[in-house]
Amino acid sequence: IPNVLDRYPHQLSGGQMQRVMIAMAMSIDPDLIVADEITTGLDAAIKMEILNLLFSFQKESHFSVLLISHDIKSVQKYCDRVVLLKSGKTKDNSVASVQGERTSYENQKNFKNNKIKKSEKEQSIILEVKHLCKTYGVGEDSVQALKKINLELYKGETLGVIGESGSGKTTLVKSMINILNRESGELIFYENSNPQILNKPNPRLGVVFQDSQGSLNPKMKIFDTLKEPLWLSGETNNQSIQKKILDQIIKVDLDKVLLDAFPHELSGGQRQRVSIARSLLLNPSIIVLDEPTSALDIKTQGKILSLLLNIQKQKKLSYVLISHDLEVIAKMADRIAVLYKGRIVESGSVKHILSHPSNDYTKKLITSNSWMNL
Ligand code: ADP
Ligand code: MG
Repeated sequence: IPNVLDRYPHQLSGGQMQRVMIAMAMSIDPDLIVADEITTGLDAAIKMEILNLLFSFQKESHFSVLLISHDIKSVQKYCDRVVLLKSGKTKDNSVASVQGERTSYENQKNFKNNKIKKSEKEQSIILEVKHLCKTYGVGEDSVQALKKINLELYKGETLGVIGESGSGKTTLVKSMINILNRESGELIFYENSNPQILNKPNPRLGVVFQDSQGSLNPKMKIFDTLKEPLWLSGETNNQSIQKKILDQIIKVDLDKVLLDAFPHELSGGQRQRVSIARSLLLNPSIIVLDEPTSALDIKTQGKILSLLLNIQKQKKLSYVLISHDLEVIAKMADRIAVLYKGRIVESGSVKHILSHPSNDYTKKLITSNSWMNL
């Protein structure tokens, strides 16, 4: 990476940050490296690169690694011995029992997909992204993160956007919700009959980010976190605020006692439910979901995804679902767009793209995802 030493962490991709962490851990020539969920949230190809990197250093320097992971597939590939931790207790440490556990996790992953399939004709466009470009920085060090992105989102559908780490997914999300200045391009919102050009954040477009811890203010109780969007939108009636928050909490299946808690007192899954509740409070018609389940274990991931499907059905919402996980996209999305180095290289129905990918990068993506399915 050019000038990596001059960059701040937010200017690096997830994979790049983990390389920095590995360099830091190695710098004191340790005997043991504790690797706590180091590939969570990375896509399959980068995941493999990072783990290969760490374990290639292990071959040279002979340190021990304690790999903590909810990803049983990488544990199987890289570890000599396995200990299973469940409800604070260690279980049998044979690889075979882990394999059994894996099967039961896999089964839990098969949540019900009760999406209503619509014919193309019934669909009307709700959002159009036209020639969107975004470059970070200037001169030699500049990064062209998005290059002329064109996308259409239909009412009630889920558009899956898939791409490797650094392909521009988060930049696309931030541009779509207008929290990042774009260089050029247009966002057109067709809520009513007259199209509206969006140049600032709009309450009809909600968002859920990957990092549930980072997206909730650690100093604010959940109630205040949920109150904030209502308050910012000009709602001042305390009773009505309270009612809206309680209604929403029920919809995302959270106990109301949690309203009095701080984010760190919640599990990752609960925090993601709070983020979903918050995105729903202003009654959006579109929600942009940036890797909403990548940091969660398989079981919780399945639950959050089925919650999202139910909410979508009830409210006829349109989703833009960003993920590096083909399995998630295959189950959730109606259509798919493949993002590679800032460009949409392929798009179409999920079924078509997954069975007949025409782009080389898409083919590679599908193969690297199946590597994780070993
Ligand atoms: P993804 O979400 O697909 O991993 P990002 O949108 O985060 O990708 O990043 C796309 C590219 O833009 C990467 O090369 C990344 O290093 C770069 N980038 C992202 N944010 C910044 C920033 N604030 N400043 C400079 N470069 C950035
Ligand atoms: Mg991202």
